[in-house]
Amino acid sequence: MLTARCLCEGVRFEITGKVGPVVYCHCSQCRRASGSAFAANADLRTRYVHWISGRELVQEYESSPGQFRAFCSRCGSPLYSRVDADPATIRVRLGSLDGDPGRRSLAHCWVRSKAPWFEISDELPRFEEAPPRSARIYHITTAAALRAHCADDSYSPPSLAREGFVHCTATRSTLLAVARDLYDDAPPPLLVLEIDPVRLAAELRFEAPAPTPGGGTAHLASSELFPHLYGPLNLSAVVGVGELRRAGSEFAWPDAFDALEMWVA
Ligand SMILES: [Zn+2]
Ligand SMILES: [Zn+2]
Repeated sequence: MLTARCLCEGVRFEITGKVGPVVYCHCSQCRRASGSAFAANADLRTRYVHWISGRELVQEYESSPGQFRAFCSRCGSPLYSRVDADPATIRVRLGSLDGDPGRRSLAHCWVRSKAPWFEISDELPRFEEAPPRSARIYHITTAAALRAHCADDSYSPPSLAREGFVHCTATRSTLLAVARDLYDDAPPPLLVLEIDPVRLAAELRFEAPAPTPGGGTAHLASSELFPHLYGPLNLSAVVGVGELRRAGSEFAWPDAFDALEMWVA
C-alpha cells in the first residue's frame, strides 16, 4: 500500500486506491509553494486518503479563491491542494510519497510561467496553461480485432506483445492519416475507440512515432508526439466507439459514437 508523510513525519496517510494522472506544474504558485522549479502533482480521490496521524497538524492556505494548499504546520512540507468546487478530489504532492505511485508524468503544464533558470529537457507534451481536462485519445481497430482481443474487461491487441504498447493518436487529423496509411485494406468495419486518459489503468507515454513497416508515412509528417499505452486497454476507459466510413480515398470521422457494448458482446 502506498503511504505518504511530511518531513517531520507528524503527518502520515495511506492511499488505498489508484493515483490519477500526474503532471508537472510550473505555475508560479506551485513554484513558490514547493520552493522548486515545478511541482509533481497527481489527482487522487479523497475517499482513497486514510489518515494515520497528524491530521490536526495540516493547515491550509487559500492561494486563490476556493483553492487551498495544504501543508504540515510543523515542518512546512506541501501535502496536497484541493478546490471547494470538487470535494471528491485532492491533488497530492508526489514528493510526500514513500513508494512508487505507478504513474509517470503525462505533461508539463503552465509552461508560460516556467522558471527562467530551468530548461525542460524531456519529450513530454508542454501546455502553456492547464492541460485540457477533457482531452481524449483514440485507437484504431477493426471490429473483428476488437472482438478477438478483448478478455477480462481489457483489450490487448497483438501490437502490445510485439511492440510493448498499444498505439493511440491524440488528434482526429492524425488518426485519419493513420487510417489512410495503415488500414486502407483492412476489412470493414473500421472502428475508432475514444479513450478517456484519466480512466486508464496502464501507463500512458507521449513518444515520437514508430514507423510501421509497409505502412504509409502521411501520419508521420507532423512533429506530433503519439500516446502509447504500456499495458492492456481497460475497457472502462473506452468512452465511445465510432465507425470510420469511406469517403472516396479518405476516411471520414464518425458521425456518432456508440457504447462499446454495441461492438463487444
Ligand atoms: Zn511535518
Ligand atoms: Zn501549479
